[in-house]
Amino acid sequence: MKLEEKTIDYKKVLTTIYHNVVSEENKGAIATYIPELAKVDADNFGVCLLTMNNEQFGVGNWQTKFSIQSISKVLSLSLAYQIFGDEIWKRVDVEPSGTPFNSLVQLESDFGIPRNPFMNSGAMVICDMLVSHYENPKEDFLAAVRELCKSSDISYSEAVAKSEASVGYRNKALCNFIKSFGNIKNEPEEVLGFYFHMCSIEMSCQELSQVFMYLANPNFTTSTGDNVLNLSKTKRINAIMQTCGFYDESGEFSFRVGLPGKSGVGGGIVAVYPGKYCIAAWSPKLNEKGNSYRGMKFLEAFTTETEESIF
Ligand code: GLU
Repeated sequence: MKLEEKTIDYKKVLTTIYHNVVSEENKGAIATYIPELAKVDADNFGVCLLTMNNEQFGVGNWQTKFSIQSISKVLSLSLAYQIFGDEIWKRVDVEPSGTPFNSLVQLESDFGIPRNPFMNSGAMVICDMLVSHYENPKEDFLAAVRELCKSSDISYSEAVAKSEASVGYRNKALCNFIKSFGNIKNEPEEVLGFYFHMCSIEMSCQELSQVFMYLANPNFTTSTGDNVLNLSKTKRINAIMQTCGFYDESGEFSFRVGLPGKSGVGGGIVAVYPGKYCIAAWSPKLNEKGNSYRGMKFLEAFTTETEESIF
């Protein structure tokens, strides 16, 4: 139901919710399965909102960089979609999986076609496409992300990429398993090297909200004056974020927050309200499903308080 447009004092809303959330217990646990991620201070908590009118509001540690992990999968998917168009859906599906992000189980019965591009398996297939396309995948991908951010101050964390590679037995199994079905074309070693780097990209909430504006602002253009995706493709990426962006808690995120978004095990969440704003939150402690405990709490309160959700 569309109510009358009202003026919202975003700064006040953000600050009030931030203090409410901080005053409550910080539940959950930091992801430690990637040893390097375990070093982060659990009390970090930041939020940044960027509106269509280019108004920016930040609270807490909104300018501190962190490991965006799976949030990067939206960026690789968008680039692959831009390059290959609808061909990509022959190799990866768009259905919520209802299984953990690193699950192998459905791949056997699905003949190596991952359920969606945000599961590790699906993201690896997308990485494989980019590895085939780019001459220097790592450099070219980073350049594309910097272009979206309109900043050159975005980089991989070699320490995080190396740390994940050193313990990435399940991801290596996934990639080799998909290769056995012929849905990975390059050498798994190369695809995994790119995948681990992609996940290691570091950004602040401020940078994340800027980077993801291409999914919120239909008029967004890069410095060359081009759209990243046309409206139909933007709709589809947002739809996949809505249905698959939060592991097997995507239904819960829709229910509580009501925005398309994506989370990562570094504790980041980015969400967009198409035509209105992009919001990024970061707090490293994760709930049982792997989503930021405080991030989800904040966003639920934010869309409830502002009455701004796509539903
Ligand atoms: N690099 C992480 C992994 O593959 C990404 C996990 C995530 O953020 O969902 O395990």
